[in-house]
Amino acid sequence: MSDFENPVYYDEDADVSILDNRTVAVIGYGSQGHAHAQNLDDSGVDVVVGLHEGSSSRDAARDDGLRVTTPVKAAEEADIVSILVPDTVQPAVYDDIESALEPGDTLQFAHGFNVHYNQIRPRADVDVTMVAPKSPGHLVRRNYEADEGTPGLLAVYQDATGEAHDVGLAYAKAIGCTRAGVIETTFREETETDIFGEQAVLCGGVTSLVKQGYETLVDAGYSREMAYFECLNELKLIVDLMYEGGLGEMWDSVSDTAEYGGLSRGDEVVDETVRENMEEVLEGVQDGTFAREWISENQANRPSYTQLRQAEQDHDIEDVGADLRALFAWGDDGGEEEVPADD
Ligand code: NDP
Ligand code: MG
Repeated sequence: MSDFENPVYYDEDADVSILDNRTVAVIGYGSQGHAHAQNLDDSGVDVVVGLHEGSSSRDAARDDGLRVTTPVKAAEEADIVSILVPDTVQPAVYDDIESALEPGDTLQFAHGFNVHYNQIRPRADVDVTMVAPKSPGHLVRRNYEADEGTPGLLAVYQDATGEAHDVGLAYAKAIGCTRAGVIETTFREETETDIFGEQAVLCGGVTSLVKQGYETLVDAGYSREMAYFECLNELKLIVDLMYEGGLGEMWDSVSDTAEYGGLSRGDEVVDETVRENMEEVLEGVQDGTFAREWISENQANRPSYTQLRQAEQDHDIEDVGADLRALFAWGDDGGEEEVPADD
């Protein structure tokens, strides 16, 4: 058995009855919002959804049988206000609802970015918690309905009442996270590891690795379709094995040639200079450089973001990939909603 550094909580550690006399306002009804609101509702918690007039998600929330009002009215009514709109719009939404909070209310987040980087400075007289499912919202909902759990994180940023931890844990239980396990963390640890992971490994690192591998083969005269299969398509098989049983299960499943070649050459490709680059990326996350850049990027209407996106779409691997995927039907269920959304 591993010794975990952070406490881990399960159903028996949480008491949902602390929510009995509390109303939860779920602000936003997108990926996380629809899942939290419906799971809380099914767990017997009083829920009101807050969406601006004319919001395109109002009908969806009503069709799911939930009460809908404006964010300000929802916050006035509620004791727990769960901010589940996109991170970039949260500061404006918080400005609107701040005066609707009462002392002792709970401000609840699913990601620490705005609080950690001071884009939201919560009033001192409210509790500030984070319950962050480690999964896109549709799986949080689907797992709950299937009596299964979604692993999650719990953090307390500010405990004005002395009850922040218990309320957060109850919320985590009501959305189904303690069925699977909830790891205690801090806003800082969640935010910095999340952003580092998506930049260095998950979203940034892996796409660069794929593109560099593809370009190396194509530049050496190999066909685009072979390069696509080797460097992108097969990645899923490898990742599935690692997900299921760690690196060991992957090494056990591939051929001895692949295992020896991978073990002996992997660190040559991703060498110590890559490690130094990762440390630099981490520094930019820790010292706020990345956060400042991303905030001003949004204030300026996303000029670099738009350009980077376009360049990625124009990459040759996207072109050959689209043709190949149209030609061969594979995958189990078309899979679009299986793609993990970013968080
Ligand atoms: P979404 O992008 O899915 O949220 C969309 C919802 O927010 C819609 O209901 C939309 O309404 C509403 N909204 C958009 N703009 C505004 C606005 N200006 N004012 C009021 N409401 C608005 O968000 P996510 O669920 O992806 O993210 C919510 C939080 O959860 C974030 O903090 C995120 O980091 C975190 N998180 C997300 C995960 C994920 O997988 N998606 C995983 C874990 C955490 P309308 O229809 O009117 O536009
Ligand atoms: Mg209130």
